[in-house]
Amino acid sequence: MNILVCGGAGYIGSHVVRQLQKKGYEVLVLDNLINGHLSAVDGVPFVKADITDKQALQEVFSRNSIDAVMHFAAFSIVGESMSKPGLYYRNNVLGTLNLLEAMRENKVSKLIFSSTAAVYGEPEEIPICEEHRTKPTNPYGATKLAVEEMLNWFNHAYGLNYVSLRYFNAAGADESGDIGEDHNPETHLIPLVLKTALGVLPEIKIFGTDYPTPDGTCLRDYIHVNDLADAHIMGLQSLSGGGQSTIFNLGNGNGFSVKEIIETARKVTGKPIQAVETDRRTGDPAVLVASSEKIKQELGWQPRYGDIEQIISSAWRWHQRNFN
Ligand code: UDP
Repeated sequence: MNILVCGGAGYIGSHVVRQLQKKGYEVLVLDNLINGHLSAVDGVPFVKADITDKQALQEVFSRNSIDAVMHFAAFSIVGESMSKPGLYYRNNVLGTLNLLEAMRENKVSKLIFSSTAAVYGEPEEIPICEEHRTKPTNPYGATKLAVEEMLNWFNHAYGLNYVSLRYFNAAGADESGDIGEDHNPETHLIPLVLKTALGVLPEIKIFGTDYPTPDGTCLRDYIHVNDLADAHIMGLQSLSGGGQSTIFNLGNGNGFSVKEIIETARKVTGKPIQAVETDRRTGDPAVLVASSEKIKQELGWQPRYGDIEQIISSAWRWHQRNFN
């Protein structure tokens, strides 16, 4: 089976590409390399193209025999989406529309889509299940939700089959230590904490200590990137076996506070990791924890990395190799 992986040179995409290849799938990566890294897909068939370029997409589909698409190509920095919503709608929504039209024109009917817990906004219930109301509080989440709606209507009209995966906090790195999380600018907690451990950053800022949580800092549900990768492949297998289009949450179901993450990173790295308490970052909900019961029951997915120490250790292995 030939899989086109849009955004396959990015953090999550490159881990999924690895797992697809391990399972014997043929992979073609398409990436504009704005956030992706060519080194993350060394040796994998690759096309440098942008999904906002309809003609480039058309050429990819006409030159290759593609059976299914996995789609990670999106901008994903919440703060940037607040100041540049047009950029996010153009890339995430318009780009995906181009992709769906190219799929339709070329009779490719299976898509695994990379969505986000940001579609829920401020949660009304914890843990969050898929039926929870959606009310994004930033353009990033709004663009992902707009795509999910588009998928639903393309399903009705053209029979496009999809699985949309709403990730909670993706973290960790492949055991090989070859690929990992490298955003520029980096905004995520675990890589910033590990860069502080390495001395690349002087300190980690704790954004807010007055949340209604046990230690006053935000709780998040961290899920290992290879557990995400497993879910993508299971989603593809489900569609290939005639499974219905659907949406799944993906998380571990446990919340860890910012302070707990820093403390665990101190234990894993053996470094003091200087932390300073600062004001809240705007738009951060106090608690985001997933219910992943639906994907467990329907696809038999189980996280292999339930332990936060294991997740941080895997990220640390990669950081030591790449930022020392
Ligand atoms: N966070 C923090 N300091 C940082 C980066 C993040 O305290 O330098 C907090 C952030 O406020 C949130 C949690 O860590 O409560 C996870 O943030 P991240 O950006 O990793 O993921 P998000 O949950 O925003 O998708």
